Amino acid sequence: VSLSFQHDTLGQRVRFGSGQAAEALAAEVADGGWRRAMVIAAPAEADLAARITDGLPVALVHDEVVMHVPVPVAERARDAAGAHEVDVLVSVGGGSTTGLAKAVALTTGLPIIAVPTTYAGSEATDVWGLTEESTKTTGVDARVLPRTIVYDASLMVSLPVGLSVASGLNALAHCVDSMWAPRTDPIDQALAAEGIRALDAGLPRIVADPADLEGREEALYGAYLSAVAFASAGSGLHHKICHVLGGRYDLPHAPTHAVVLPHVLALNGPAAPSADERIARAFGSGTALDGLQDLRARLDAPTALRDLGLEESQIPDAARAILPAVPPSNPADVSVEVLEGLLRRAWEGADPR
Ligand code: NAD
Repeated sequence: VSLSFQHDTLGQRVRFGSGQAAEALAAEVADGGWRRAMVIAAPAEADLAARITDGLPVALVHDEVVMHVPVPVAERARDAAGAHEVDVLVSVGGGSTTGLAKAVALTTGLPIIAVPTTYAGSEATDVWGLTEESTKTTGVDARVLPRTIVYDASLMVSLPVGLSVASGLNALAHCVDSMWAPRTDPIDQALAAEGIRALDAGLPRIVADPADLEGREEALYGAYLSAVAFASAGSGLHHKICHVLGGRYDLPHAPTHAVVLPHVLALNGPAAPSADERIARAFGSGTALDGLQDLRARLDAPTALRDLGLEESQIPDAARAILPAVPPSNPADVSVEVLEGLLRRAWEGADPR
């Protein structure tokens, strides 16, 4: 026998339907018997949130959302939840907003209903993140897994194309990295392959027409699959690199993923032929990297870390910081020199091929 693995499935309800978020939220809140909802949404997400939470028993609307969830921001949200005696958290927004709801759930045990408006995928994981004095800590806790996800692609139409592309490639990175991450298994790989297919189909449609609902739906479905695969498989080399770049130098989350991914694939693909073949098949391309680069070209994706705020002089420090986090199971051998070379190519925006 060669098929032997253990796979944990996270228990969540998923409600998927364009234009149905308000109805789905009302049904969920009624189902839980909740009477005092805390709606969490960043200012850019406030209009969307107001539109779909109109029929809920809202006790409090909270809009102080900051990327990577600084501890004082989390504490103010927890205090507000306590002061208003809320019994359910409704988050409407991107990964930063979902992340704040998770920070509140972590200490209060309050249930979360998540309505994502980007393709980051935090809603489908039990991973939380908090930042204290520019060091980001992440952890796993069952309390932060949203009870229900409400996916409504019509909420994504206002996400600008550039952010849609970066966020969609962040989801694609969950899929690719899941192929060789430390706990990867055949279920994760099946989800990841279907996620790649869906994102590859959906994202170019969004670039052609940001209001293309079918393209938005396809990408959102792919983003969910990517997050489920990632939650189970864990962080591979790609996520370890991006975690250091984001936390240490404050680079923007999704565009950093978009830039780094082809360089990790160029390194790991040849050392992991069956993963490479699986990814290529999902793209319908000859090699995995050709598939990714074709998609990136169609999306006019960001290409260089120097455009995202990394200084060339920071590359050696970054390589040293990443090295201890590299999973021992990574397919390709990784040294500080390998990481420096990879980061330099990503910094310049060099062709990874
Ligand atoms: P984000 O949540 O910071 O959103 C980016 C910007 O887009 C924000 O200004 C936001 O208000 C705006 N926005 C979001 N949706 C919009 C919409 N539909 N229309 C108009 N504007 C909209 O970015 P993100 O990439 O979604 O999330 C990044 C954060 O999520 C990072 O902190 C990352 O670490 C975290 N994350 C966590 C996990 C996890 O499993 N815990 C997974 C993925 C990402």
